[in-house]
Amino acid sequence: MTTLPSSRRHFLLSSAGLTCLADLHRSFAAPVRTEPETATSSAALPALAPPDKQPQNLQIPQKPTKQLGWAIVGLGELALGEVLPAFGECELSKPVALVSGHPDKARRVADFYGIERNAIYNYDNYDRLADDPRVDVIYIILPNSMHAEYTIRGLKAGKHVLCEKPMATSPDEARQMIAASKEAQRHLMIAYRLHYEPFNQRAMEICKSGALGKIRTFASTNGQNVKAPNIRLSARLGGGPLGDVGVYSINAARYTLGEEPVEVFAVAQQPKDDPRFREVPESVAFTLRYPSGALAHCDCGFGMTESRFYEVHGTEGTLRMQPAFSYRGLRLHVRDSEAKGGTDESRELLLEPKNHFSQEMDHFSQVVMNNETCRTPGEMGLADMVIIEALERSLKTNAPVRLDG
Ligand code: NAD
Repeated sequence: MTTLPSSRRHFLLSSAGLTCLADLHRSFAAPVRTEPETATSSAALPALAPPDKQPQNLQIPQKPTKQLGWAIVGLGELALGEVLPAFGECELSKPVALVSGHPDKARRVADFYGIERNAIYNYDNYDRLADDPRVDVIYIILPNSMHAEYTIRGLKAGKHVLCEKPMATSPDEARQMIAASKEAQRHLMIAYRLHYEPFNQRAMEICKSGALGKIRTFASTNGQNVKAPNIRLSARLGGGPLGDVGVYSINAARYTLGEEPVEVFAVAQQPKDDPRFREVPESVAFTLRYPSGALAHCDCGFGMTESRFYEVHGTEGTLRMQPAFSYRGLRLHVRDSEAKGGTDESRELLLEPKNHFSQEMDHFSQVVMNNETCRTPGEMGLADMVIIEALERSLKTNAPVRLDG
């Protein structure tokens, strides 16, 4: 294809060019100097797009002056699938060490993320993290039964600890973890990622603002189909649906209702003909009663098609989050009562999603850097463990369990 000289292109497109075809030949021979269309145009007006100038307010991205070094403990599905990739969106946090029982896997992961090979630890030499100045924070992503031990050892090593949910396997373990954090004077945070993402944050604000009136009921399901083998199906490793997925509903009930239950009741189903549920129930349904008179009814399970939602019903409105607990794609709808002019239609609130894990990790880095209070401390994990333990007692006794006694 022949490219026309720019002066000629201008000539052809101008009205003068259309009437002066006879000059076309000459235009090839010598460049045509194009004159401004009017005498006043470009001299008096500022250039519309100066090529040599950038907007004065153009922000050039800069690395924060300090990033905290994180050690990832346990290289399973969550660590590899979500947490390590999320560092790419962090500003204050970077992965600098790995703890794994599988050296080959750890080396491959370290190489991929630019982690030095001499920063790979295993469960035996884990305590040597104490002598590694690259590491400020330890993130525990192990089976639930190992959370307490590795959190306490990490705190004793002088590091700050982010521990996955559920915090532990009992309130006693949770209390020991909090005591270890106080003794070591290091921060302890529980990885309740939904406190750090915009959709659940907006739901919290709406409920707290009173826009729904008095909240009367909360309803929630969190369940999925779990294939064996899986840590979730092992009693020894602290599995079971209450701690793994039910805890999201328990925690969401707290951050929407803003109070602690005074009484709980649970029923469970553990089919004898499904080998997956030899050690843990397939499904658990539970009710929580609150001092205000609000009731929460929830269910969780490992044998169902994925379903993750909650609804909050108040005297003046309703809020629905579905999905509510997934990593991505959360959707929030609200509806006003008829008295407030609402119709059958709910309104969807469109918010910009953010990566839950990078938000959560950067929050903790900021807490550590500035010695601030974190939003999801060990005490919150303990409060959930107390409720889970009461629900387990209710399952054993087949009776309601009071929490206010
Ligand atoms: P996983 O089974 O995929 O990973 C567990 C890791 O622990 C593996 O790397 C495994 O090798 C290691 N491990 C060390 N000792 C072990 C032992 N004795 N038995 C079994 N594994 C051992 O599990 P996961 O899905 O990554 O979950 C890990 C933790 O993260 C759990 O506490 C879980 O509740 C939590 N989690 C949180 C979220 C969230 O959204 N916050 C999502 C998934 C999992």
